[in-house]
Amino acid sequence: VTFESLGVHPQIIDACNKLGFSKPKEIQRESIPWALKGRDIIGLAQTGSGKTAAFVIPVLQKLLEAPQGLFCLALAPTRELAYQIADQFNAIGSTIGVKTCVLVGGIDSMSQSLALAKKPHVVVGSPGRVLHHLEHTKGFNLRSIKYFIMDEADRLFSADFEEEVNNILKVIPKERNTFLFSATMTSKVAKLQRASLVNPVKVQV
Ligand code: AMP
Repeated sequence: VTFESLGVHPQIIDACNKLGFSKPKEIQRESIPWALKGRDIIGLAQTGSGKTAAFVIPVLQKLLEAPQGLFCLALAPTRELAYQIADQFNAIGSTIGVKTCVLVGGIDSMSQSLALAKKPHVVVGSPGRVLHHLEHTKGFNLRSIKYFIMDEADRLFSADFEEEVNNILKVIPKERNTFLFSATMTSKVAKLQRASLVNPVKVQV
């Protein structure tokens, strides 16, 4: 199996090859074809499995097919994970000129507002800081979002974040695709899945 046989665009394959991704990992083989067909995905996969590229590749490919303003919102439970996701978007999106912006706590929010003014295609952030900018940064909204990603959803939907994630779900367009990745299927993740995904394909590695 190659990235080409999964339907990945040559420009994105070039970027993958530059990163040393010569062939797709299992989670990528299982997810990418469904994602490219427009399905929602629930992925049960651990860190280290290649799960990040499993959602980054299809999002970038859809962005390449229909370039527009803010296209994707990815939520992560920690600052480190948010930066790792943004790094993969930048690396795999290097050949298509993707612009990303990270919105996490502990960083001056004014510099984040300035980054938002540069019209990124992808925002990666923690639920609390994303909500902060929705309230306080003029011109920032989620109306054009086509892809919504929740990574490490089991941690994301822990007690502290549950209400914040629900508030984001209230303002994100219903017409969108959603990818939910989690290491474990907890009852909270199942609840989140029912509230946010439509007829998802379940992939597990
Ligand atoms: P993740 O599970 O997303 O944290 O990915 C773990 C590591 O695997 C990251 O360092 C990725 O850069 C790397 N990786 C992802 N996909 C591939 C691939 N197809 N071939 C080789 N390495 C990969």
